[in-house]
Amino acid sequence: MQDDFSSTDFSVHGPKAFFSNMPLSKTLTMNIDVPEPWLVEPVVAIHDLDNILLENLGDVRTLQAVYELEALLLTGHCMEKDREPPRGLQFILGTKQRPHLVDTLVMSNLGYWQMKVSPGVWYLQLAPGRSADLYELPSKLIAIDSLRGKLLHIEVQKKKGKEHEDLLNADDDNHVQEKTDNKGWNTNLLKWASSFISGDASLKKKAEKNTVSISSDLKDARQGETINIFSVASGHLYERFLKIMILSVLKKTERPVKFWFIKNYLSPQFKDVIPHMALEYGFEYELITYKWPTWLHKQKEKQRIIWAYKILFLDVIFPLSLRKVIFVDADQIVRTDMGELYDMDLKGRPLAYTPFCDNNKEMDGYRFWKQGFWKDHLRGRPYHISALYVVDLAKFRQTAAGDNLRVVYETLSKDPNSLSNLDQDLPNYAQHTVPIFSLPQEWLWCESWCGNATKAQAKTIDLCNNPMTKEPKLQGAKRIVPEWVDFDAEARHFTARILGENVEEIAEAIPPSSESDAPKPDHDDSSQDAKDEL
Ligand code: UDP
Ligand code: CA
Repeated sequence: MQDDFSSTDFSVHGPKAFFSNMPLSKTLTMNIDVPEPWLVEPVVAIHDLDNILLENLGDVRTLQAVYELEALLLTGHCMEKDREPPRGLQFILGTKQRPHLVDTLVMSNLGYWQMKVSPGVWYLQLAPGRSADLYELPSKLIAIDSLRGKLLHIEVQKKKGKEHEDLLNADDDNHVQEKTDNKGWNTNLLKWASSFISGDASLKKKAEKNTVSISSDLKDARQGETINIFSVASGHLYERFLKIMILSVLKKTERPVKFWFIKNYLSPQFKDVIPHMALEYGFEYELITYKWPTWLHKQKEKQRIIWAYKILFLDVIFPLSLRKVIFVDADQIVRTDMGELYDMDLKGRPLAYTPFCDNNKEMDGYRFWKQGFWKDHLRGRPYHISALYVVDLAKFRQTAAGDNLRVVYETLSKDPNSLSNLDQDLPNYAQHTVPIFSLPQEWLWCESWCGNATKAQAKTIDLCNNPMTKEPKLQGAKRIVPEWVDFDAEARHFTARILGENVEEIAEAIPPSSESDAPKPDHDDSSQDAKDEL
């Protein structure tokens, strides 16, 4: 099967679409509408596909972007006769020799599950541990032999004598464990890459592209348990912020760090630079994704899709072996050892967020959660900010928190006026069923809400939008965080060196006056009537 068409001259003979009368001075976003079972991503694009201003594209006003089919989807519904779908049931997929290359769990929503696959022959089975102990399912051979991916209906049943045992709420230790050798390398990932060695070389390249393990010299320089941090960025400006966030985290900890980035909208340049950054600065990273399931209420705006990825798929977007992760907004600067947060006891709660600051009284008018609908709904609990949070993934999966959040999301999102700060309103709204551990205030400082009195204690600083002044973020960054300027210069020089460009070009890619730096609509813009929020 041929899966590399790069030598074909598709630019001349391929299908064409032509749009005339496009607005020249409006900021446009490029998105591609693909068949459901395809995961597609940009691999060549000089311009920022999130912020296209046609009038800046020279006389010809053309922009080129090349997208690549990255993976196909194997999806399915898993049922148990006369019962609810077996939520939390874990599947593994691999080859005969390496049965565990990818894994996932079954959602309660329609018993849905999903895995990324390449063409080939694969084996699907129950994950060892509680899933295989309680349930019966003979290993299934699956041939991915077309570009349509595959949809499977699977029926499982409990083993004799296990009918009354619960899959979740069980002793945690039965879940999939990370397979690490004594040096702490994540052999799962290496296995994933090496599994393709005997097969198609381009598939192997693809697998390696998504993950970097660091050289032993650099790894040995860092000691202790790895801190896992995930983030999301879309658009060149937020990618610029993200690099600064990475540098600020690394500077403040001696422990190994692994970053997890949501892959969907990363630019080709960022994906080119990040492996080099990982080697230079000594961190690991992995690019992850989960295709928006067809049955889940869709978001139309790219911005809101990104926010949704911060919260809706936490149980399924990481390998099951990952037990804990900290989300950090791209536009955040870390001023302390994140190890302290990583190790914090969350008192059995799946999520931990910092409550919004109360001290900047100028902002009282914007604190919508202090009145009306939100006040009644919260019943004395705090309203938390979503720029930084810890997810105890083991607990999160064990308590089916992902299912709960998706059910709440599905109900609320049908009303277009609800969830205006999607990633923040959703966990705050759902905290009666998905409990939140409230972090000490100093974990998240942001000028708009906290005011200068507590700035010196800030463990992290978010450049959160100020609904009153609407100051652009780049401008705010330089003013609020003195170290931001040096981090930015360092990241820009590094990027220029890797891409073979000069630093000015890198900076120019994001004109400070462009709309890409204008305050985003809605997010943290709490000026609406509280009732409109949900
Ligand atoms: N984000 C992004 N691109 C955007 C807007 C947002 O990647 O154009 C991501 C990024 O991780 C950012 C997070 O979504 O940190 C939250 O958005 P933002 O920081 O703008 O919200 P605020 O903190 O101002 O409320
Ligand atoms: Ca932010």
